Amino acid sequence: GHTVHLRQVSKHYGRTAALTDIDLHVEPGQFLVLLGPSGSGKSTLIRTLAGVEHLDRGRLHLGGTLMDDGRRRLPPERRDLAMVFQDYALWPHLTAAGNVDYALRRRKLTAAEAGRRRAEALDRVGLAHLAGRYPHELSGGEQQRVALARAVVGNPRLLLFDEPLSNLDADLRERLRVEIATLTRQSGATAVYITHDQSEAFALADVIGVLDKGKLVQLGPPEAIYHDP
Ligand code: ADP
Ligand code: ADP
Repeated sequence: GHTVHLRQVSKHYGRTAALTDIDLHVEPGQFLVLLGPSGSGKSTLIRTLAGVEHLDRGRLHLGGTLMDDGRRRLPPERRDLAMVFQDYALWPHLTAAGNVDYALRRRKLTAAEAGRRRAEALDRVGLAHLAGRYPHELSGGEQQRVALARAVVGNPRLLLFDEPLSNLDADLRERLRVEIATLTRQSGATAVYITHDQSEAFALADVIGVLDKGKLVQLGPPEAIYHDP
């Protein structure tokens, strides 16, 4: 997994300070959960890691490589990461298999190798039998499993999750939470995971970062984080 290293990172939207002086260090393979109220900067932080937002000040390193220093930055496809979204963000015109293949499009793989990897990824999320279905033919939980397969199929060093379970009912949330933890650990990737659900955070995290008004106000293992009972 990537080392994630932020040093004095700040980001504004006009006059809104979305992130202020963030210092953060995550070791390879660790699972970081970002907690905080709406508007506290969680999405901005994860989008900065992904490279779809750039920072105003500070430095971001992933795996020891400088990704963004406020002047130059590497694009998302050069960062060896994948992202999972709240709304799944599957291509509606592609089947489950096609969506997973899409993540491999830039790799120079033979058709046989791509097919083997796709089958393995779909199998790991229990969807081998639904490979030919389109997103609108799948339940919400199944769609998110396709998105998980798409995220892990390329074996990225960093997995980013933006409230991936928020649209699912409680039962499914708990099952998918366990699947995400298992898949991530098996892949060896470092994970950064946004939620506003405290029980989810404490169940998943090696490290919790609490954001408030764009500042990282707490950072540490779950047992060291203050939490409302
Ligand atoms: P969270 O994910 O914790 O809800 P965000 O990172 O989305 O927080 O937002 C942090 C702050 O930045 C908020 O004040 C929000 O209104 C603002 N913000 C986020 N995205 C934009 C944007 N594209 N344009 C202007 N302001 C934004
Ligand atoms: P600076 O003030 O230069 O940002 P830092 O304390 O952030 O100082 O780290 C110094 C340099 O060490 C950084 O520029 C970065 O290249 C490197 N570095 C330190 N820790 C890490 C890490 N865990 N992963 C990647 N690079 C790191």
